[in-house]
Amino acid sequence: METVTLDQLRQDALCILRTLQQAGFSACLAGGCVRDQLMGRAPKDYDIATNAPPEEVARLFPRTVATGQAFGVMQVVTAGRACEVATFRRDSAHGDGRRPDAVVFSGPEEDARRRDFTINGLFLDPASGAIMDYVGGRADLERKIIRTIGAPHQRFSEDYLRLLRAVRFAATLEFELEASTRAALQELAPRLAHISAERIQQELTRLLTTAPRAGRGLRLLHATGLLAVILPEVAALVGQAQPPQFHPEGDVFEHTVLMLDGLTPPASRTLAWAVLLHDVGKPPTVAVSREPDGSERLRFNCHDEEGARMAALILRRLKMPADEIAAITYCIKNHMRFKEVAKMRRATLRQLVGAPTFPVELELHRLDCLASHGDLSNYEFLLKFQDELHNEPVLPQPWITGHDLLARGLPPGPELGRWRRRAYEAQLEGRCASREQLLAWLDEALQERPRDPPAPVAPPRAPSSVA
Ligand code: ATP
Ligand code: MG
Repeated sequence: METVTLDQLRQDALCILRTLQQAGFSACLAGGCVRDQLMGRAPKDYDIATNAPPEEVARLFPRTVATGQAFGVMQVVTAGRACEVATFRRDSAHGDGRRPDAVVFSGPEEDARRRDFTINGLFLDPASGAIMDYVGGRADLERKIIRTIGAPHQRFSEDYLRLLRAVRFAATLEFELEASTRAALQELAPRLAHISAERIQQELTRLLTTAPRAGRGLRLLHATGLLAVILPEVAALVGQAQPPQFHPEGDVFEHTVLMLDGLTPPASRTLAWAVLLHDVGKPPTVAVSREPDGSERLRFNCHDEEGARMAALILRRLKMPADEIAAITYCIKNHMRFKEVAKMRRATLRQLVGAPTFPVELELHRLDCLASHGDLSNYEFLLKFQDELHNEPVLPQPWITGHDLLARGLPPGPELGRWRRRAYEAQLEGRCASREQLLAWLDEALQERPRDPPAPVAPPRAPSSVA
């Protein structure tokens, strides 16, 4: 698959801008890419805004896809890559605090004013370097401030997702929320419940995976009241005490914040969500136990299992894809096993290390240790074990499978297993040079098959799953 570089995306965007401008339209870069460029960051993608109506955009470029023609949004496709070209518009009549009901094409100033935050309301003509700033976005970029365009209460009420976006941008850009924006956000936080789960999940995932300190993002979500609305199970970690000898950092929320701060962006979303939810099973399982020396201690028996169960419910509620839920809950359910690796049998360790989620689990464990007692001995033990495994010769795939044997009339059962192992042994010993030769040997051997099953042979080792 072709990997698209940012450079190509930029070239595409510049080329599209030129075409529009040469046809007599005004056209510029808009929104996130302008903000990122002014901050000296690499934009994720490039969006174009223009006064050309959608029909003109469709006429000017050989390949366009109308993704939201009613909103004036077209994708212009160049060499298999798409760039969004949107006609300047103003949104009108937000009935339900979710999406604009109608759209009216307009000029750039109105288009800037419909956007959410001042730093997202800038336009740039890269040819001349001219910036169009109708909303004070540059000053807020300088001051590192998230401020709604216009009255915060009204702007949030038009689309409650903006409540979460404000915190997402504060976290990913490491900005502060401007005071009146923050006050309105706190007041309206419960309204985030009106927003669809998918949109919430996408914003949360972006926050968790791209913020330089996602833990600060979590603190902000809590402080603004959004966390209690969207993830009450995580809000319940606040104030949940744990034994100070293992957790000198403090309560479970504090521990989770520290772990999130340890993520390196762009973090895998499996890892980020596993970190966020790995201890949600603690508050419901907390119990006081009497230790042999008579002292009392908090315990969270089976919090890993309970946490995995709760995480599955949370993630389903947030409409996370099923395979992602399976991976995240697997990591959560397994996370306490990493404390026992030094006592594990080799076969158990091989299974642990061979799981497709292992790289994520290992990083989860490392962050877990660093955000509490700081002891990385189990982590280092696993790195060493993994190294040893890599140095073992990797066994080839068996040429002959159960299917081949069934096709030759062997009934399913232990005899079939014995023949499969014999064939694999013959392959590993190099008695046959190819699958065809091995099949010929097998057919001959099966002809001579005694009525009694062949004597059991020592099973060869299974192919290593860690290639
Ligand atoms: P990122 O780089 O993280 O994608 P972005 O600013 O490009 O950030 P998008 O969600 O891609 O964010 O949106 C593109 C632009 O559209 C924003 O910069 C903003 O101007 C506008 N926008 C997006 N969502 C909203 C919204 N809910 N309300 C108002 N304007 C919005
Ligand atoms: Mg964007």
